[in-house]
Amino acid sequence: MVGNWITRIITQAEKIKTAIKKRASKEEIKNSKWMSPCCGSNPILKSSIFNEKELNTCPNCDKHYPFPPRQRFDHFYGANNWEEIDTPKLADDPLSWPGGVYKKKLASARKLTNQRCSVLVALGERDGIKITSFAINSAFIGGAISVESAEAILKACDVAIENKTPLLAWSEGGGQIMFESGLSLQGMARTVLGVSEVKKNNLPYINIYTNKCYGGISASFCGVSDIAFAEKSTMIGFAGQHIVKNQTREELPENFQSSQELMRTGFLDAEFHRKEINDKIMTVLKILLKKNSVINSEQNETSENSQSLSREAS
Ligand SMILES: [Zn+2]
Repeated sequence: MVGNWITRIITQAEKIKTAIKKRASKEEIKNSKWMSPCCGSNPILKSSIFNEKELNTCPNCDKHYPFPPRQRFDHFYGANNWEEIDTPKLADDPLSWPGGVYKKKLASARKLTNQRCSVLVALGERDGIKITSFAINSAFIGGAISVESAEAILKACDVAIENKTPLLAWSEGGGQIMFESGLSLQGMARTVLGVSEVKKNNLPYINIYTNKCYGGISASFCGVSDIAFAEKSTMIGFAGQHIVKNQTREELPENFQSSQELMRTGFLDAEFHRKEINDKIMTVLKILLKKNSVINSEQNETSENSQSLSREAS
C-alpha cells in the first residue's frame, strides 16, 4: 500500500516536471514569431502588428502596444528629421542597494533599450514648426522615473524654452522608481515646475498618454498640460485596478481607467488612433501658434474657436 502511494506521488511529480519543461522559456517567447492574441483565440504573428504600417497596433481590435521613443520620434518628425538631445548623466544607484540589484537592473535596461534612463528627449521639425518632445520608454524598468529621468524631462523643458518651441510629452509607465525612494519622488515636484516654466513662456505644452500611465507620472507633469490627449486603448490612473478594487472592495466598472471613459468624464480632451494622432497634434499646435491658414481663412465658428484657443495659449 505504502509503495503504491509513493509511486503515485512520484508519477504525478514526473508529469508536472515534464509539463514545466515543455513550457517555453522567456528567451524562446522573445525570439518566437508568434505571440498571445489581444483579440480572438489563436496566437498571432508578431510581424502583423509590429510593422511600419500598423505602428505596433492591432488591426483587428485597435490595441496599442508600446511604441519605443526612437520609433515614436521617427514617426512624428520623420526619420532623420530630429536630433536626440543629451541629458544630464548622474551617478547610478544613489541609495547603494545591496548586491548591486539596482545596478544590474539598470545595466540590462540600458542594453535592451540603448537609453541611459527611461526618458529620451528630441528636438525636430514637423510641418515647418520646431517642436521639442520627450518620451518615456516602458521597456526601461517599466518606464519608471528616476532622478536622471526627471532631469531629462527638465532638460526638455529648457530646450523648449531656449528654442521657443512647443513641448510634447509622450507619457507611459508605472511612476517613480522605488529603487530611488524619496529622491525619485522629488522628481514629481521638479517636473511640474519644469513644465510650468514652459507654460509661463507662453509655449504650448501637450501631453499624450500612451499604453499604461500610472502613479507619479500621471500625478505630476502629465496632469498640468494645456491639452491632454491619449492614444486609443490607453489605461490611465494613479493606483492600478487591483489595488483600487482591494481597497474599496467594490466591483469596478468594465471601462474603469480607460481612455474612452476618461474622455467622457472630461479628464482627457480626446483620444486618437496612433495612425492619426500626429496630424491632430499639429492641428492643435497650428491653432495655438496661429499658423493654421485654413482655419484663419474661414470666417466661421471654427475660426472663433481658434481665436479663443490662441488667447488662452498667450
Ligand atoms: Zn487585437
